[in-house]
Amino acid sequence: MKKESTGDWMKGVIVQKEIDKYLIDGKDFINERDIFDRLGKNTNPNPKLIRDILQKSLAIKTLAPDETAALLNVTSPEMWEEINQTALEVKKKVYDNRIVFFAPLYCSNFCVNNCAYCGFREANNREVRRILTLDEVKRETSSVLSEGHKRLILVFGEHQKSDIDYMTAAVKAVYSVQEPAPISGHPSSIRRVNINAAPMDIAKLRQLKESGIGTYQVFQETYHHETYQSVHPANTLKGDYKWRLYALHRAIDAGLDDVAIGALFGLYDWRFEVMGLLYHTLDLERQFGIGPHTLSFPRMTPASGSSLSSDSPFHVSDSNFKKLVAVLRLSVPTAGMIVTAREKAEIKREVIQLGCTQTDASTRIGIGAYSDQKSEIDLDKKQFTIGDPRDLDDVIQEVGKLGFISSFCTAGYRCGRTGETIMGMLSHCVEGKFCKLNAVLTFREYLSDYASPATRTIGEPLILKEIQEIESMDYFKNKPHLLQKFHSDYSEILNGKRDLYI
Ligand code: SAM
Ligand code: SF4
Repeated sequence: MKKESTGDWMKGVIVQKEIDKYLIDGKDFINERDIFDRLGKNTNPNPKLIRDILQKSLAIKTLAPDETAALLNVTSPEMWEEINQTALEVKKKVYDNRIVFFAPLYCSNFCVNNCAYCGFREANNREVRRILTLDEVKRETSSVLSEGHKRLILVFGEHQKSDIDYMTAAVKAVYSVQEPAPISGHPSSIRRVNINAAPMDIAKLRQLKESGIGTYQVFQETYHHETYQSVHPANTLKGDYKWRLYALHRAIDAGLDDVAIGALFGLYDWRFEVMGLLYHTLDLERQFGIGPHTLSFPRMTPASGSSLSSDSPFHVSDSNFKKLVAVLRLSVPTAGMIVTAREKAEIKREVIQLGCTQTDASTRIGIGAYSDQKSEIDLDKKQFTIGDPRDLDDVIQEVGKLGFISSFCTAGYRCGRTGETIMGMLSHCVEGKFCKLNAVLTFREYLSDYASPATRTIGEPLILKEIQEIESMDYFKNKPHLLQKFHSDYSEILNGKRDLYI
C-alpha cells in the first residue's frame, strides 16, 4: 500500500463540521470586547464586594466573569492576603490536604507546526528529531516507575508519525510495564496515563478513550485571537484557532469527560488569559454541564531557537503569577490545578500554598531522557527549559514539611468518578474525602516501597496525623463501612498488598 504523504495526512486532520456544531451564531465563546469591558469596568472593587466573591468561591461555585474581573483588579496588599488565604481554604475544602504527583513522558518531537515559542517547531532545524519506539516507551516507563510514580502524562508533537495509532500503542506499552519497587521489591505499574496532544476529531478521540486514558489535555496557549494568529502561522494545523478551542468539547462528545484546559502565560496579557480560561470553563459547563478536570497555567520558558520565548513583552512576573494562580483557584473551585517543573522550586512551593493540587517531579523533558540522562544537557533535544529538576523524593519531603500529604491516587477514573459524577462530588466537597483516604493509602505504599530515610522521618508522623484526622471527621463517623474499609486496606498494604483504593 502506498504511504500517505504528510500533505495528504494534514488535509484530513481538521473536520470543519466538528467545529461549527459548537459555535453560537457562527461565533466562538471568546468575546474579546466583553472581556476587555469587564476588566475595564471592575476596577477599584470595594472590599465588601471582594469578600462576597470570596464567600461564593467558598460555597464552591464557579465565578461569573465580572467577579473574576473584580478579583483581577484588586490592588490592596491586605486584600490580596485575604484572597490568598481563601484560595488555600477553597482547595482544602474541595481536595483536602493532598498534592498529587505525576511525571511527563515526551514520546516524540516530530511536529508539523511552527509555534513561535516552542523548540519542537518544524522550522527549528537545531532540534534533533526523535520518536520513541514502543520498547523505548517501555524503558522510559520503567525508569519513571523506579522513582515511585504511578501517573504519567504522555506528550507528543503533532505529526503523522505520532498519530492516533502510535498514541494508543504507546498507552498500551506504558500500561504493560511492571517494575519491582526498590525497597520492597513489590511489582508496580503505571495506573493512570493522561495525554497532552494536538486536537483530534471525534473518531480518533473515541480510540483514545478506548485505550484507557485518564485525562486529555490541550492548552489553548492564548485566547486572544490576533496573538494566536501571530504565533501560530495560518498555513499550519495549529493555525486554526477554533479547531483547538473546541478540542475538549469534541473530547467530551467522544466520551472522554476528564478534560484539561490551559493557557501558556507570557504570550499575551495575563489578566485576559485568566478570563479566557474562565470563559472556556463556562462554555463547557453550558454545553455539557461539566467543567474542566484541571487547569494549567504554564509560564513560557526559553526554548531552543525561539527569541519570543525569552523576550516576550508579556512575560509574567513572579508576583503576577501568584495572583493569577489564586484568582484561578477561586474562579473555578472544582478544578484541579497543575503547577509544573517549568517553575523554580521556590515558586512551586509558594503556589502549592495558593491551592495547586498537582505537580510533576523528577521531570525530564528530552525525548528518551529518563533512561538516557545525557539528553537532558542539550536544549536542542527538548521543548523548553525546566526550573525544577529535583527528584520525586526531594519534592515529597518538601511538601511533607509544609504539611501536605503526597498522593498517587488514581481511584477516581478507575471507580467511574469522572465527568458529571466527579463534578457533583467536588462541588459538594465529597470527593475530597475520598482523596484523603486514597492519598493515605498511596502514600503508605510510597513510604514502604520508595522513600529515603529522611522522607520516611517526615512521612511517618504525617501519615499518622492524617489517619487521626480521618478518624475524627464527622463524615466518616457517619459512614463506618468506609472507615472500616480504609483501615483494612491500610493494614493489607502494610502486609504487602498493593493497589487498593476506595
Ligand atoms: N504538540 C501538542 C500541542 O501543541 O498541543 C502537545 C504538546 S506541547 C509539546 C505541550 C505544551 O507545552 C504546549 O501546549 C505549550 O503550552 C507548552 N510549551 C510550548 N513551548 C513552551 C515554552 N517555551 N515554555 C513553556 N511551555 C511551553
Ligand atoms: Fe508542535 Fe506543540 Fe510545539 Fe507547537 S507546541 S511546535 S504543536 S509540539
